[in-house]
Amino acid sequence: ATSNKGNDKAIVKDYFNTTGFDRWRRIYGDGDVNKVQRDIREGHQRTVDTVVYWLKQGSKLAGQTICDAGCGVGSLSVPLAELGAIVSGSDISEAMIGEAKERAAKLNLGDRLSFEVKDLEAIEGSYDTVICLDVLIHYPDQDIEKMIGHLASLAQSKLILSFAPKSPVYVLLKKIGELFPGPSKTTRAYLHPVRDVVRILRANGFEVNRREFIGSQFYFSQILEAVRPQE
Ligand code: SAM
Repeated sequence: ATSNKGNDKAIVKDYFNTTGFDRWRRIYGDGDVNKVQRDIREGHQRTVDTVVYWLKQGSKLAGQTICDAGCGVGSLSVPLAELGAIVSGSDISEAMIGEAKERAAKLNLGDRLSFEVKDLEAIEGSYDTVICLDVLIHYPDQDIEKMIGHLASLAQSKLILSFAPKSPVYVLLKKIGELFPGPSKTTRAYLHPVRDVVRILRANGFEVNRREFIGSQFYFSQILEAVRPQE
């Protein structure tokens, strides 16, 4: 299939600067939300908590350089910087980054946390750990190989991804509209088979050493932690 990536990206960017921004800022906040949004908020928080827990168990977090690709409003970047990591968060949406900066300004994190408007494919540099949570849902199958390959090239030792796994049950639920209800339907949601993501990670020199599935009524996410095997 031919890629309509450029088009998808423009739509996603526009969505997260407008209606998507309003919706997700609320979901990723702590104010009143409806039942569906609360379910998604709690599921997403479990994903964030799992990643923070894993990182705390790994090599020293203080001073570790972390790239949070597609960081949204900083739900993960902020707690990691609070734990002493040096975090570079970036996101394609100006509005999400604006909100992330506002949230960070209230804390005293100094140089440990920086946010930048940037398309994931334009991220450069080298980081101990690269993390990309709940962004692959915006990438069609034919684009994930390049996207994950790029993230892998930035990561010296660890790469953590979370994404909506493609399985017959979820494909069916998505079809009947049980998942991704309401305005989130304005962007297309792409699910990806776990084995494809594992294969791509492996092709880029990473082995999955931890995995966790977070599932609730309206939120579901497969988290994979991959490392470069020691020689
Ligand atoms: N990772 C954050 C988290 O878990 O809290 C945000 C997840 S949110 C569902 C998806 C985010 O991906 C949005 O903030 C969106 O703007 C961002 N995004 C989508 N495509 C992107 C791209 N090509 N480059 C950078 N960010 C992107």
